Amino acid sequence: MFDCTCPAGSIDLDFRVTAEISGLCARHAGAVALRRAIREEFPGRIAVVSSFGAESAVLLALVADIDPATPILFVDTRQHFPETLAYRDELARFLGLTDVRSIGPSNAEIEANDPPGELWRFDPDACCRFRKVTPLDRALEPFAAWVTGRKRHQALTRIALPVVERVDGKTKINPLADWTAEQVDAEITRRGLPRHPLSAMGYPSIGCATCTRAVASGEDPRSGRWYGTGKVECGIHRLPETVD
Ligand code: SF4
Repeated sequence: MFDCTCPAGSIDLDFRVTAEISGLCARHAGAVALRRAIREEFPGRIAVVSSFGAESAVLLALVADIDPATPILFVDTRQHFPETLAYRDELARFLGLTDVRSIGPSNAEIEANDPPGELWRFDPDACCRFRKVTPLDRALEPFAAWVTGRKRHQALTRIALPVVERVDGKTKINPLADWTAEQVDAEITRRGLPRHPLSAMGYPSIGCATCTRAVASGEDPRSGRWYGTGKVECGIHRLPETVD
């Protein structure tokens, strides 16, 4: 496990043991919630949703530690950087993930909604809806719970993000909610995880190639997403029913 000063420390204790130790740091508490969800609460009924972006490696490494056969859903919008698709395959190999599923719009849906692939220019909400939201809703139907890599520091819309929430009848686990960008970066280094090839080229947050630009040092890391449109979320994360 990662280093910290909470009672779990850097000792790789059994999670069921660490869960009973009071005063766990928020990062260890998130890791405990993740393990409980995968192993005890939703075995066979939980999936992880990953963009295989600049910060995705840490969550996927935590999942691989618990069960590398956990289903990982990657929404292939058909507008991704080729580097992201290559990174998906590289990271899956490195971590030994055995059930990475690429989902996305069907050819018929693309033909019906956006044959030239230009919808993002004038209606990005509609584009995200048919390329991301609808395919992910479809893929999540058989699951009772899902895991995201969202963090509070990423956007004002995420500032109160809980580790566990209930949305649209499903449980969502956000084990990295409390992690800072610096902690994620340090953990990628500590574990020797492969990095997204674009992260060293000014892309701290990576979505579709059409809607992501590099940012300068010191700029808001997510300001390169949907630049100039005011859009900050793709729409796959809806408001919770309750907050635990
Ligand atoms: S991020 Fe851009 S290209 Fe990708 S689905 Fe959303 S609007 Fe479309």
